[in-house]
Parts: sequence; C-alpha cells; structure tokens
Amino acid sequence: MKQFLTQDALKSYLQNKGGSIGFVPTMGALHEGHLALIKAAKAQCEQVVCSIFVNPTQFNDPSDFEKYPKTLANDIKLLTETGCDIVYTPEVDDLYPSGMKNLPHYPLGRLEELLEGAHRPGHFQGVCVVVDKLLQAVQPSHLYMGQKDFQQIAIIRKMLEITKSNVNLIECPTVRESSGLAMSSRNSRLSAEQKTQALAIFQGFNSPSAAAFESALVANGFETVDYVACCDPITLENKPWDERPCQILVAAFIGGVRLIDNQFMP
Ligand code: AMP
Repeated sequence: MKQFLTQDALKSYLQNKGGSIGFVPTMGALHEGHLALIKAAKAQCEQVVCSIFVNPTQFNDPSDFEKYPKTLANDIKLLTETGCDIVYTPEVDDLYPSGMKNLPHYPLGRLEELLEGAHRPGHFQGVCVVVDKLLQAVQPSHLYMGQKDFQQIAIIRKMLEITKSNVNLIECPTVRESSGLAMSSRNSRLSAEQKTQALAIFQGFNSPSAAAFESALVANGFETVDYVACCDPITLENKPWDERPCQILVAAFIGGVRLIDNQFMP
C-alpha cells in the first residue's frame, strides 16, 4: 500500500493510473465497519483509496475533537491486510492551505436542520467542505459510505447534486458487533460496562414508543438523549412512531461519549 501525505503527491500518482477508483473517506481508528467499505470498493474498483483525516471543521464540540481516538499505525496495518492500494493521511494545512475561514457554504436546506443538524450546528457544512475537497484530490469514480451515518449519506447525496459531481455514491450497511452494538471509533472510549449498557440502543428499535425508547436509554445509564426519532427514510422528516416503512434514528450520550445509530423498519 502506498501512503501519501499531500494531495499534490497523491494527485500526480493517480494521474498515471487508469481505471476506476473507489474512495473511502474516514477519520481513522479503523474497525470492521470501515474495512467493509474498503472490501466493497475492492470488489468493484481497480484502485482503492482510503483517507484518514480527523476533520476539525466538522466538530462542533472541541472536547470530542481532542478526544477522538488516533491509531494510525494500526490503521495502516489493517488497510494493508485488507488490500487497500493507497492511503492519504494529510495534515490540516494540506487540506486547508488558506485556513479554516471563508470556506464554501452548501445550500443543504431542510436536511441540515433536522436531527444531527439541529444538535450539531455547522457539522454537516464541515462534512461537505472536507468531502468535496477530498473528492477533488482523489477524483474517484465511486464513493463508499456507511449507513451507520444515515443522515450523512443523505447530505452527501445532496452535496453531490449541488456540485454536479458524477461520482457513484455507494451505501454500505451498518456493521455491528455480535452483540448488536454498531461499530464506531468512539466505542473505544467506553468501558466494558458502558458497552453492555449501550446495547439499549440496538434493543430499543422495537420499543412501543419514542418515550419508551428514551426511558430505556436513561435506565441503562445514558445521561442525555439528543433524539429518538421515527422518520421518512428519504426526507428524514418526522413520522408517527408506528408508521411503516420508516427509519428510526437515535443519538445519545453515555459516559460523555455521543453514540448514533439507526435502523430501517420495513
Ligand atoms: P468515520 O471514520 O466515523 O468518519 O467513518 C468513515 C466511514 O465509515 C463513514 O462512511 C461511516 O458511515 C462508515 N462507518 C463507520 N462505522 C460504520 C459501521 N459500523 N458500519 C458501516 N459503516 C461504518
């Protein structure tokens, strides 16, 4: 696997390679959820590029940014074992050479007012800024993203429309621990007990009401529930709890760690 630290070096290497490029943007601390995206890209594309970059502009909470787990040496080992061809690991200056002010603004509309958008001001603008920059650097034919971040996929689809990109966005299913807990880099900040308590998210999708789901989270040690919502899977607008089909989406804090998850209810 080749590693590049600058987009210039990455671009000139990729220029001499023909064929399809599958791209997997990540923030590192890689787990099986990320590796499933790499494997999906490998099955469809001639070159697989992964980026590892903890993007400061998408963090609305400075302590979440500071505490974000970093395991670069192990990430590189996992990517190599999984058959990733190229990893791009930039420093902030390489992606933000003119600083982090006066960045583009994407007219995302309603989608960024709902759910994560309401609780994490500016988050999705930061996600769009970095993914747009990464797409310009990598110029992939295919972009792989996980349904674990369900709203993020809808946002990126909208951003691709706004920028008139013709990259193929490929959605990959959420990878879970055998217990049902959705894999997440932030899980490494949980104790064994908190991981067991966090199963209340997976177990809650079949709750009889949003209120019952929230109570179960609180009873299992979650200190704050940002939202438990039953939504239209396309627009993400709220729906009555028992309407089907729907997407149930959850965000809640346990041990100071913010977890999100979602499930399609056919
Ligand atoms: P992150 O490093 O958290 O920014 O995630 C990078 C990509 O991996 C995003 O497209 C995520 O949706 C995806 N991802 C993270 N966790 C999982 C998971 N458990 N299952 C599937 N995809 C995931």
